[in-house]
Amino acid sequence: MADSSISEKNNAVTQDPNFPIFNALQSKGHEEVVMCSDPDTGLRAIIAIHDTTLGPALGGTRMWNYKSEQEALKDVLRLSRGMTYKAAISGLNLGGGKAVIIGDPRTDKSEALFRAFGRFVDGLGGRYITAEDVGMEVQNMEWVYSETKYVTGIPKSMGGSGNPSPVTGFGVYMGVKACAKKAFGSDSLKGKRIALQGAGNVASHFARNAAKEGAKLFISDIYEDKAIALAKEVGAEVVDADSIYGLDVDIFTPCALGGVINDDTMELFKCPVIAGGANNVLDDEERHGQMLLDKGIIHAPDYVINAGGLINVAGELEGYNEQRCLDKAAQIYDTILSILEYAETHKIPTNKASNILAEQRIASVAKIQRIYSSKGHFSGRHGEIYMSSRR
Ligand code: NAD
Repeated sequence: MADSSISEKNNAVTQDPNFPIFNALQSKGHEEVVMCSDPDTGLRAIIAIHDTTLGPALGGTRMWNYKSEQEALKDVLRLSRGMTYKAAISGLNLGGGKAVIIGDPRTDKSEALFRAFGRFVDGLGGRYITAEDVGMEVQNMEWVYSETKYVTGIPKSMGGSGNPSPVTGFGVYMGVKACAKKAFGSDSLKGKRIALQGAGNVASHFARNAAKEGAKLFISDIYEDKAIALAKEVGAEVVDADSIYGLDVDIFTPCALGGVINDDTMELFKCPVIAGGANNVLDDEERHGQMLLDKGIIHAPDYVINAGGLINVAGELEGYNEQRCLDKAAQIYDTILSILEYAETHKIPTNKASNILAEQRIASVAKIQRIYSSKGHFSGRHGEIYMSSRR
């Protein structure tokens, strides 16, 4: 139990208006932030561990030319917290973490820099497991991996899980089916008109699954050749990037960039369902989530429906098996349905409902950890740190 006089004293010490870092951590429940500095290589990185109730904190490393240290810190705190929710709602025994390397990904990369970063990750002894994110490439991750085993999403040729997109795309397909079930009474996509934004990795895998079931797809990409190639493969129609929002369709499936549900596009949507793999689709989570509810549009929260990528790298920790990951991604169907039910019962936006359900899972697992048990381990490359029960 915390001594209240000590915590009062500590809180008084941390109320520094110029650099309120502990306030930032406490307000969103972060456990630990590690500032990594190596002047010789120019490494300046921040690792944030948000919550490890369910297991080690997993999340990618992003390299970005942040304008300030504060901007980098804000980003890593936001992203690491998002990973906690994603792992929790997906039924994974993982916590949330993230790392950012401050620097220009086009000019500031070197072997020594990434190996130095790898040593900081290793120093955390498995509390944080990293992966590839924006600004990072396979070669960079290989350098990190040469200094620490706490890396996931490594190439198949190195014994890892490789490209996560097939599992992500399949999970999106299952999530879209769940939304169809709620909206139309049947989860069959046969004859359903789907507007697919993007013709990249996730979109392609989604499109193949949906087309096989008889969906009628309309595809847009800012690179028209990509849209044409995918449309040809799956028997779809190409539409231009701007008109995709207002199509007369059953389902809008964003699989490109974030922020596409915003003040400008909101009034264009005629579809009863929005469900797709793109991250951070709501420009303003609170406001646009509520606006979708008010419009009666069924919305699958992005971090739930696109969790196949995380499921894939988590599978690597147990000894990778693609079919097992696909089976786990199929459960996104039930997860989305339970979120839609909860949101309907409580008359709240679906993104809020999924946050509540994720928090409930964390709280319930935290409670059972008071019961003493010998530590149950999973086998595999990270078996010793990836445990079903940690205490
Ligand atoms: P990708 O780069 O392979 O594909 C994205 C495609 O979107 C590209 O073809 C790009 O040209 C197109 N695009 C960009 N802006 C567009 C616009 N305004 N209109 C139409 N098309 C546009 O990326 P990806 O790996 O398929 O990821 C897609 C989304 O899914 C991203 O938001 C990503 O964060 C998210 N996601 C991906 C994974 C994964 O496993 N790859 C996992 C979770 C989430």
